[in-house]
Amino acid sequence: MIVTRFAPSPTGFLHIGHAYAALTARQAARDNGGKFLLRIEDIDLARCRPEFEQAICEDLTWLGIGWDTGVRRQSQHSEDYTAAIERLETEGLVYPCFCTRNEIAAEIARATAAPHADELVAARYPGICRSLSRAERAARIANGNAYALRLDCTKALASIGTQKLAFEEMGSGPEGEEGHLRADPERIGDIVLARKELPTSYHLAVVVDDALQGVTLVTRGQDLFAATHIQRLLQVLLSLPAPQYLHHRLILNQEGKKFSKRDGAVTLRALRNSGVSPEEIRRMIGM
Ligand code: GLU
Repeated sequence: MIVTRFAPSPTGFLHIGHAYAALTARQAARDNGGKFLLRIEDIDLARCRPEFEQAICEDLTWLGIGWDTGVRRQSQHSEDYTAAIERLETEGLVYPCFCTRNEIAAEIARATAAPHADELVAARYPGICRSLSRAERAARIANGNAYALRLDCTKALASIGTQKLAFEEMGSGPEGEEGHLRADPERIGDIVLARKELPTSYHLAVVVDDALQGVTLVTRGQDLFAATHIQRLLQVLLSLPAPQYLHHRLILNQEGKKFSKRDGAVTLRALRNSGVSPEEIRRMIGM
């Protein structure tokens, strides 16, 4: 059975780009008699707010989008992410990264919100802390230096030997990529997995949750296509099943840019308050 999901972060109100993502996920499930799940990606408690979560549910309901039972709220499942990181640590694939607070803070901001295509590649960590000695790591930790845990991507790839990394693209990537595609995690590199006040990063949480929720088809915007390269590696390292992927087009604003939470006027709420109907919203996004 096909299982899809919509996985918003409650950091603002939903806009029409989200409506398109949710409808695409639900449609893919419906067409196949499958299930459509909702997941609340609220791991970054500093930025997430309960009123936004409530608004997500209200807005989806207003649009006529129901979801199957079993809403997963990431903030309630830290132990699942910690267990996954421990497994990677046991395999020797994780290292502490002590790069400065500012650098790490910027990295966390990127690590909790789903990163978008260019950011993902631009955020590629140059590996400064990868080769620190055991003694140096221990000394810095004993010294109370803040650190993030990173995946050693090169070592992780070596650990899976000759196993080929690939994924099935049922939609298309930003450059028209489709079908059976090779995953190249080195494009993304040594991602952050967690740090002290943050039990998981976006990539790790998505991979663990999709597996635990039994998601068989990950539908999301083409801006997250690059993320699939590293997420496939995490799935193999953690012996998780490989879902299929359907990356969909992005709904663009008048300037031809992806809608963001800053485009206040196009939140579903604002549209609804100005008298726009759910049917009109669907028409606006071609659904
Ligand atoms: N929470 C992510 C977002 O808001 C989506 C997660 C995913 O589909 O991988 O963009």
